[in-house]
Amino acid sequence: MKNIRLRYAPSPTGFLHIGNTRTALMNYLFAKHYDGSFIVRIEDTDLERNVEGAIESQFENMNWLGIIPDESFLKPKSEFGKYKQSEKFERYEKIANDLIKEKLAYKCFCTTEELEANRELQISKGIPAPKYNKKCLNLSDSEIKNLEKQNLKPNIRFLVPENRDYKTIDLVRNEVVFNSKEIGDFVILKSNKIATYNFAVVIDDIDMKITHVVRGEEHISNTPRQLMIYEALKETPPTFCHLTLIVDETHKKLSKRSGNEMFFISQYKSQGYLPEALFNYIGLLGWSPSGEEEIFSKEEFIKIFDEKRFSKSPSTFDVNKLKWINSQYMKKMPDLDYTIFIKDFVDQSKFDFKKYSEHDFNQILLLFKKEIGFGVEINEHLQLFFNPNSIIDEKSKLTLKEFSTINVLKKHVTSELEKIEDWTEDNIKMVIKNTGLALNLKGKDLFMPIRILTTCFEHGPELAKTILLLGREQVIKNINL
Ligand code: GLU
Repeated sequence: MKNIRLRYAPSPTGFLHIGNTRTALMNYLFAKHYDGSFIVRIEDTDLERNVEGAIESQFENMNWLGIIPDESFLKPKSEFGKYKQSEKFERYEKIANDLIKEKLAYKCFCTTEELEANRELQISKGIPAPKYNKKCLNLSDSEIKNLEKQNLKPNIRFLVPENRDYKTIDLVRNEVVFNSKEIGDFVILKSNKIATYNFAVVIDDIDMKITHVVRGEEHISNTPRQLMIYEALKETPPTFCHLTLIVDETHKKLSKRSGNEMFFISQYKSQGYLPEALFNYIGLLGWSPSGEEEIFSKEEFIKIFDEKRFSKSPSTFDVNKLKWINSQYMKKMPDLDYTIFIKDFVDQSKFDFKKYSEHDFNQILLLFKKEIGFGVEINEHLQLFFNPNSIIDEKSKLTLKEFSTINVLKKHVTSELEKIEDWTEDNIKMVIKNTGLALNLKGKDLFMPIRILTTCFEHGPELAKTILLLGREQVIKNINL
């Protein structure tokens, strides 16, 4: 495929979340795989619903993830028109008026009350999906003039062709056919002269020479209206691709409203997820590669992308899988990068890491490199190194009681650790080994009581290293409390 152009068209009514990121990312991969262009267009016609800062935040988060547009209002190309719908009102109005001249659209002066009354009437007759009753379709020119003289502002409605099939070959659903019977004459330009979504989106996709429209399946019901507008404007529609839903474990559409608390990209960022890992995980939502492999860099994704591999059924957002993918990326980080990254997530109000030298604190952080799923999880592990009063929890105390050798162990380990001249990991290992030999203890019977005695915790990272980093003073204090 040559010169393909795809777009992500957010409305600035909200921030970048898992759902719209998936749309942006699939458009991006599709475009980049074929060396095409990825465009971001802002659909901000609904001025009242626009949220302050939403656009900036969407760009910032996309940038963080590595979903970089080739064109946007920040990088416009003048031959494709404006990249914000709010800057195109005049263009939409002109085209709506052209359609009136061609008798493909008409002015409608019905009031909200009239429309509502008509709706209710149809519902009372058992019509499940009421349609506009075309009352204004045949207004004469003089009637229209009269109404306009009274300063009444009309909506412009599209004249839906009667009983026609509209067909598209969707990349996910194959052939989809809609009959126009179900669709009433819909408004394309509101009385305040603001274009509606279905109208503006088609004009923009034409102006921007969009070849493929990849978007969520909630837009499938808009597609026939858009196909009709393409026809009226004598333009070829793009290829559509309606991605299946992303659902949560309860099979509900993933959304803030369904109670999914972790929904926005910025939340994952502040919890210490890596952009590469999010990119990787979201790239597998509703799309799958041919093999078993699941870890892909952006470049690999671009290479293996195949528009025939979109999934036909909903995909479940599985935060544990995301966590696993994130941990894979953290494990692969060079040690220095990892410590710099992870330090930002340490809760300094609980753990004042100045207590350790920079070197030692980095070593402490590295002890958990293979264990944590995301940044802030580090705080679940650090208590062990910030326990100056040697507090031991009840469960560990009970476990300790299971070992009859405690008193001898305490004495032996204390004196052996005190004897060490050079406080090194090897020497500490030697103490543990010799203690086992001297007291005839092995495996769990040796390590578990020594671990609880020296660290106050039943679980933890490599024992000798932990003892080394805790420091002799703290370890002896732990043992003897
Ligand atoms: N502004 C629409 C949305 O945010 C885009 C729809 C489309 O891609 O056509 O859902």
